[in-house]
Parts: sequence; C-alpha cells; structure tokens
Amino acid sequence: MAEKIHKTDEEWRQLLTPEQFAIARKKGTERAFTGKYWDFHENGVYLCVCCGNELFSSDTKYDSGCGWPSFYAPLEDSRVENSPDHSYGMIRTEVTCSRCGAHLGHVFEDGPRPTGLRYCMNSASLNFVKKDEMK
Ligand code: FE
Repeated sequence: MAEKIHKTDEEWRQLLTPEQFAIARKKGTERAFTGKYWDFHENGVYLCVCCGNELFSSDTKYDSGCGWPSFYAPLEDSRVENSPDHSYGMIRTEVTCSRCGAHLGHVFEDGPRPTGLRYCMNSASLNFVKKDEMK
C-alpha cells in the first residue's frame, strides 16, 4: 500500500472542482440521480478523485436503484476504510479512501451476493478510467 497522502484544504481546493471538494473533502453528498456514474455501465476502474487510488472495479458495480453508483465490494479491502457515522440522526458506516481520507460515501448491508454489501458512493468522489486506458 502506498504512503498516505496529506494535503491542506487549500491544496485540495486547487486540485478539485468546488463540488468535488465539498463532497470528497467535506463529507458532502450529491443529490440522488444527479451524479455522472449512477447510470453508467462502462468497463473499467473507479479511482479516488483526490489521489488516484484504485477503489472499485466495474465488475462489482450493480444497479441498486438508489441513485448513486453502487458496488458490492471494493477492489481490495485495503483500498477503503470504514468508520461509524452518527451524523443527521442516522447510524451509518462512512467509507473513505485509505490513502488520502477522501469521503466516498457509505456502506450498507442490503447489497447483493456474494458480500451482501452496498457501497453507495458519490460520483463526485470518483474518477472512472476505461480498462484499456489503465497503465
Ligand atoms: Fe484518495
């Protein structure tokens, strides 16, 4: 696993759009059915929009109907970190990038087999790369 990446808010602001910054660095959430990947079916890999960490494969993406890109597993468990999130009066599990701490979304236990998990992610926290464009 590569070293952790630490940047200040100002440094992140330079690298991201205002929407990406608000969601990935400030734990925002895009509105359902508005992101660029919830209804997107290309073959490839989804990278962290902040640091390029390879997070999810299209192989584990599925149509959850929730309005956000949904995966039943990360590329490797070590690519993401889970932590309890009690904000907004809900008990949820937040998912962050293990390399740079970017807020990605939440994971729920209503996903399909084989894991039963639904990684409910923000499109704005991800950057899709087609398989044949991966190095
Ligand atoms: Fe990252």
